[in-house]
Amino acid sequence: MIDATSKALFHALAQSGLLRRLASRYGMRRQGFARRFIAGETIDEALTAVADLPSRGLRLTLDYLGESVSTPQEARAFTETYLQLVQTIVASGVERNLSVKLTQLGLDISKDLAFDHMRRLLDAAEPQGFFVRVDMEHSPYVDRTLDTIERLWGAGYRQVGTVIQSCLFRSPADVTRLCALGARVRLVKGAYKEPAGVAHRGKTEVDAAYLSLMRQLLDTGHFPAFATHDVQMINCVRAYATERGIDRTRYEFQMLYGIRRDLQTSLVSEGYGMRVYVPFGQQWFPYFMRRLGERPANVAFVLRGVLGEG
Ligand SMILES: Cc1cc2nc3c(=O)[nH]c(=O)nc-3n(C[C@H](O)[C@H](O)[C@H](O)COP(=O)(O)OP(=O)(O)OC[C@H]3O[C@@H](n4cnc5c(N)ncnc54)[C@H](O)[C@@H]3O)c2cc1C
Repeated sequence: MIDATSKALFHALAQSGLLRRLASRYGMRRQGFARRFIAGETIDEALTAVADLPSRGLRLTLDYLGESVSTPQEARAFTETYLQLVQTIVASGVERNLSVKLTQLGLDISKDLAFDHMRRLLDAAEPQGFFVRVDMEHSPYVDRTLDTIERLWGAGYRQVGTVIQSCLFRSPADVTRLCALGARVRLVKGAYKEPAGVAHRGKTEVDAAYLSLMRQLLDTGHFPAFATHDVQMINCVRAYATERGIDRTRYEFQMLYGIRRDLQTSLVSEGYGMRVYVPFGQQWFPYFMRRLGERPANVAFVLRGVLGEG
């Protein structure tokens, strides 16, 4: 459940070098506690982990974990890895769908660098039938992310979309902007600790904003994705789509790897599109800490795993 205090606590813990070192040592062992949420440290491990998703009717998007890159060399290296990933995915036959963060491709260094790296990625990926989703990061990145999407769109790329966070006050205007452009939107509640001046803090407000943006996207969006594990949100999406006569082929649900697998399966069995977001890579610690912050019960799950290792 979203709670500003637990988000803040886990945000602070995510900065701890000691925790990061300990987690890196134990988390991704064979029965490591992080394996529930991370599909592996290499693409081969990730491909093994997702091998049964298509036969269970699940779609997928692969995310090579990494963010907040501070040197052009590192940003270039991530871009090269993504380019190799495109080839590996094509050769493997799994669904051609990627999620990527702009700070991984150099947004903290310059907007132009991140744009150039996105161009390189899309030049390789689009002709092969990929769709590339740009994840949304903290609120200071929203303008730069949306500008980059518009710039890519202006350069003729169409298989690229992004994410809107319902916790942010600005999001209704951003949805209008993206719908006018024609870009696909994934709607989420928002995973980051945000200042009170820009974001709703309580679950009731974030949920109400989610539902309002959901209606906006179903009315005016382009194949929107409703990314949530919240049954109440999911039921409202279904009810509103039915009320408006919107076929279930015109939108999809998305959930994170390892979370609410029961709900993923039951939605597929009812004929809904369900995409699983599959993170992998060595830099899994910040992603992992965000998942812990979302649900205190995950901490107990992790502790059981750690203690179980003896
Ligand atoms: C496919 C996908 C992509 C995303 N991309 C982004 C992005 O680009 N930018 C961004 O800011 N955020 C992103 N998020 C994260 C999102 O913003 C939320 O932080 C996260 O989805 C938790 O919110 P919720 O909608 O599930 O609702 P909540 O109200 O947080 O939770 C509802 C219920 O879902 C279950 N649940 C939620 N989280 C967890 C968890 N970690 N572990 C176990 N159970 C859980 C629990 O049963 C909980 O009661 C993404 C989420 C998904 C599913």
